[in-house]
Amino acid sequence: MPSGRFAPSPTGRLHLGNLRTALVAWLFARSDGAPFYLRFEDLDTASIRDEHYISQADDLQAIGLDWDKPTLRQSDRLDAYETAIEQLLAEDLLYPCYCSRREIREAAQAPNNPHAGRRYPGTCRTLSTVERSARATVREPAFRVRAHGEVRHFIDRAAGPQTFELDDFVVRRNDGTPAYHLAVVIDDAAQGIELVVRADDLLESTARHLFLYEKLDFTTPEHAHIPLVLAPSGDRLAKRHGAVDLDDQAARGNRPADVRSFLASTLGLCEEGQPAELADLLAAFTMAALPTEPLVLPESMLGDGGDTP
Ligand code: GLU
Ligand code: ZN
Repeated sequence: MPSGRFAPSPTGRLHLGNLRTALVAWLFARSDGAPFYLRFEDLDTASIRDEHYISQADDLQAIGLDWDKPTLRQSDRLDAYETAIEQLLAEDLLYPCYCSRREIREAAQAPNNPHAGRRYPGTCRTLSTVERSARATVREPAFRVRAHGEVRHFIDRAAGPQTFELDDFVVRRNDGTPAYHLAVVIDDAAQGIELVVRADDLLESTARHLFLYEKLDFTTPEHAHIPLVLAPSGDRLAKRHGAVDLDDQAARGNRPADVRSFLASTLGLCEEGQPAELADLLAAFTMAALPTEPLVLPESMLGDGGDTP
């Protein structure tokens, strides 16, 4: 009985890839009669717009998905994240980091850094009190976990066995905003989510989340990371690739139910071009329907001019 959720960031219209991940997440929960929630991950305020909360919920509904109450917004839950940050601080699991982006980039590119370019090199992990006070006069710190380069293993229900080495990731940015990695863990735990379904660009981040579940004494959910939907060129799907959202598809004569059928056919749940009623999809859905390879959209789905730069 894996309760689930879909957690979009309201920064734009949902595209076919988002809708496909949402459909899989919904099928997992609802084929088992389990709770399913919608949660808006809206801490990244720069590109959040009111209209996107509305269009995202509308588009999910249009392809037939439903969800239980409450619909959370992370921006309403800052107190919960702050409480967790205090708990982690009290347990000496965090340290302040005063590095600017540029400093991190430069240190990460240093020839003796084994993780060149990718990871925080640990500059502020062992600052003395004196060094810390000196750096504190320059800027507000972000807070990072002391991960000690720990290696995490887990079994993803779609992607299989995984191993990642943790870095000292940020849980609170230097403008005071809680990081996604912290907020997602607090929310999934608070909502009792048992199976996290999302796109596989977040596969590596799961190691970070497992670290936080453990340190915060939460029950760890299972994960299923769904390969991305790609443009015909193999690029990550974007607006410029053509008819990527439900409005564009409607303009091409594809109703939301047609889009649902197309998405379901890419999951092996119905024949291409056949109607896909929700009841049939719920009955047909099994673990075996989980995609393990990226879906490259056919030109025919995206229409004229798709994929031109
Ligand atoms: N908000 C993330 C996104 O839109 C998804 C995060 C998650 O499902 O954990 O890509
Ligand atoms: Zn630092």
